[in-house]
Amino acid sequence: MFKLIAEENGARTGELKTAHGTITTPAFMPVATKATVKTLNTQELKETQTDTIIANAFHLYITALEAIRDAGGLHNFMNWNEKIFTDSGGFQIIRKDFKFKITENGIEYTDPKNGEKQTYTPELCMKIQDDLGSDVAMVLDHCPPHNATPDEVIEATNRTTRWAERSKKAHNPRKEQQLFAIIQGGTNPKLREKSTHELTEIDFDGYAIGGLSIGETKELMQKTLRYTTPLLPSEKPRYLMGVGSTRELLNAITTGIDIFDSTYPTRNARHASITTRDGRINITRQKYKNDQRPLEEDCNCYTCQHHTRAYLHHLFKQKELLALRLATIHNIHHTQKFIQKIQTAIREGELQRFREDNEKNC
Ligand SMILES: [Zn+2]
Repeated sequence: MFKLIAEENGARTGELKTAHGTITTPAFMPVATKATVKTLNTQELKETQTDTIIANAFHLYITALEAIRDAGGLHNFMNWNEKIFTDSGGFQIIRKDFKFKITENGIEYTDPKNGEKQTYTPELCMKIQDDLGSDVAMVLDHCPPHNATPDEVIEATNRTTRWAERSKKAHNPRKEQQLFAIIQGGTNPKLREKSTHELTEIDFDGYAIGGLSIGETKELMQKTLRYTTPLLPSEKPRYLMGVGSTRELLNAITTGIDIFDSTYPTRNARHASITTRDGRINITRQKYKNDQRPLEEDCNCYTCQHHTRAYLHHLFKQKELLALRLATIHNIHHTQKFIQKIQTAIREGELQRFREDNEKNC
């Protein structure tokens, strides 16, 4: 299902075949938590060069599962005929504080609609993702916070393995859905190794590195990646969760990561923070008030082809909704173009040079 095309000093480009087509890696997935990449319709999304998105199983479970099931799955429901990953949503239950408690059985939480106590188990999580019909499902894992004690990290890592075993047993591969496990272990090399060993023994279609980009320093994240990524089987896709700035993408790709997701480009866009090849700019600053250039010279996204910085500045200042959409189009497009250039660079053995040329500004 995953085929390596080329490698350069550990960085890889490849192809992941799914039920809805092939994903060329490295790949970046914009986040569609609630079955929408915020502000964009699916046609606009495709025009940003996006062909894979990630939705959130837990959110869709508590809001729209029946309608999605009746529609024949998430692809139909949101009119997206391309690739979809679904995350378990366990991380969001914990982060958004659904008055949760983690037990061996699963994550106990309070349903915000009726105040009832519920348990989100690895088996339920598999069933939901089966109903959603995503191309790649993620196991439910236990992600400890970045400031957890060593004992808490050990407990979470071991539980992640036990839950992964249960997920694999409960997973229904009938719809050609692939299942990825999530490596935990905090920033402890021994635990990362243990987690990787145990999960690869169970054997999944791919492996994500979880528990990073959750508040630890960039240096610690990069260090953890450098020793964790090479432990993963080279013939399977490797996915780093929650990373999306161009600099971090480039750094992680050099360690051998293939797939990413992050709200970075979309959230920044909604806060008027525009990614360009010369770095990030805040378009609401006074100096853009009468700037008649596009957001980025030579960018062929819809926004840059049709509008100026001055117009975007004006829309943001006036709190017009179109501002959010136009900025989102550009930021995702910028990220996807950046990733495509990296794919080409790896194929041509030019990644090192690409890195030297781009490191300063990305
Ligand atoms: Zn643009």
